[in-house]
Amino acid sequence: MSDLKEEYLSGWGNIPMVRGKIAFAHDEGDVSRALKNGSLISRGKGRSYADQATNNGELVLKMEKMNRFISFDPGTGILTAQAGVTLAEIINVFAPRGWFTMINPGTKYVTLGGAIANDIHGKAHHADGSFVNSVIEFTIMLADGRVLTASREENDDLFWANFGGLGLLGAILTVTLKLRKVETTYFSQKAIVARNLEEMMDALDETEQTYRHSVAWIDSLAKGKNLGRGVLTVGNEARFDELPPKLQKDPLAVGAKPKITVPVYLPSFTLNKLTISVLNSVLHYLQSHGKPFTHYDSFLFPLDAINEWNKGYGKRGFIQYQFVVPEEGGRESVRRIMKEITESDCKPFLNVLKKFGEASGGPLSFPMKGYTFAIDFPITDQLEPFTKRLDEMVLDAGGRIYLGKDAFLDMDMFRKMYPNYGEWMKVKQKYDPEWHFNSDIGRRLLHTEHIPLDDTGMKSTI
Ligand SMILES: Cc1cc2nc3c(=O)[nH]c(=O)nc-3n(C[C@H](O)[C@H](O)[C@H](O)COP(=O)(O)OP(=O)(O)OC[C@H]3O[C@@H](n4cnc5c(N)ncnc54)[C@H](O)[C@@H]3O)c2cc1C
Repeated sequence: MSDLKEEYLSGWGNIPMVRGKIAFAHDEGDVSRALKNGSLISRGKGRSYADQATNNGELVLKMEKMNRFISFDPGTGILTAQAGVTLAEIINVFAPRGWFTMINPGTKYVTLGGAIANDIHGKAHHADGSFVNSVIEFTIMLADGRVLTASREENDDLFWANFGGLGLLGAILTVTLKLRKVETTYFSQKAIVARNLEEMMDALDETEQTYRHSVAWIDSLAKGKNLGRGVLTVGNEARFDELPPKLQKDPLAVGAKPKITVPVYLPSFTLNKLTISVLNSVLHYLQSHGKPFTHYDSFLFPLDAINEWNKGYGKRGFIQYQFVVPEEGGRESVRRIMKEITESDCKPFLNVLKKFGEASGGPLSFPMKGYTFAIDFPITDQLEPFTKRLDEMVLDAGGRIYLGKDAFLDMDMFRKMYPNYGEWMKVKQKYDPEWHFNSDIGRRLLHTEHIPLDDTGMKSTI
């Protein structure tokens, strides 16, 4: 384990900024030594938005140097790798051999450990489900130093509870997952312009059988009859024989490093109504004028083209508020919440709407069948109370907030939104009753000290 350092750390949204001890794990021995330092939490690439991988005053163990590949079967596409390997590293090595990661979030700079801890989803959730669907098994070091294998057959309680389990059950060491066979690293894509939410929802429904990937960018300032207008991008992995001759010359090309870096924290006033409206128009143009075939970097990970774009929101930072509501009644729920946002004083920036398929994860996994909407908000004094109003609306609609991005939920609201949390608590009680693994979000949402669990796994009182 590297020497302990004291540092300020935050999530991708630059909030909250907390001081803690930091060390890098290079191997299993380092993780075992870290356990002797009191409370700890693992951290991957820090792409969660808030306090998921911070641990105020205590240890944060960075896992990104545990990034070796262990084995790969070219017959089946089954890969075993250390948990600090990122999706970008997997793609760089295996895409030229015709294998691609199955579940891809909006950035490729996430580790396998982080992908499990938030049971991440991508634009293809309606077809492929969440990250758990690509994982066969993983090994995990528990608070008492034991290393267990968890799969659907072995220690299955530990397996399921880790998907969405926020790293609170132990440090994941290695992951065995399935890659998808591909003929090319290109996507055939189509853009559909929708004039309002009704048209957008119709387009999402009509395209879900034909296209594996779909995501809608919504104009965050459109109101009234234009509410919900935007561009839906849909696509599929391109076959070799579909590609134009120019792209057939290098059908399995891998991507480049980010081209632009945001050099400093931009002042917050750069994001005002005027700049947001200009950016919306640019995005609208870019989204609706895409080429019919595009590389995975621009199709799956467009935001990765700009390094550290999170600094563009200024030093106060930002949140991404992402919720899901059930399909039944979902159109109306999304409309109500969208209207509340556009009529508020809190300026939304990037807005993304997707449709989820059936839930496939653990008790704290986020996705459920329905509509998910993600909105970036720069931090202002009004924002936190405003999100509380939105939380009530989401809960009323039978929905929930994505914990991997959440910054403001409280324990009471969390328990209402995740009624299966008691099931997760039982697993925590079994494997780490002393809460050796803990984090700021763990203390905010889950950990109530010195209160006995009843036999359903619930704390008897808060
Ligand atoms: C631009 C952008 C786009 C995104 N798009 C999506 C999206 O489309 N879909 C989606 O689902 N998410 C999305 N995310 C969120 C991101 O996928 C998740 O937050 C992911 O978990 C981050 O992984 P990480 O390696 O950076 O982990 P971190 O953010 O460092 O940590 C996340 C969690 O993983 C735990 N963890 C990390 N490593 C380990 C380990 N070895 N063992 C145990 N626990 C561990 C941490 O304790 C923490 O709880 C996006 C984020 C960004 C910045």
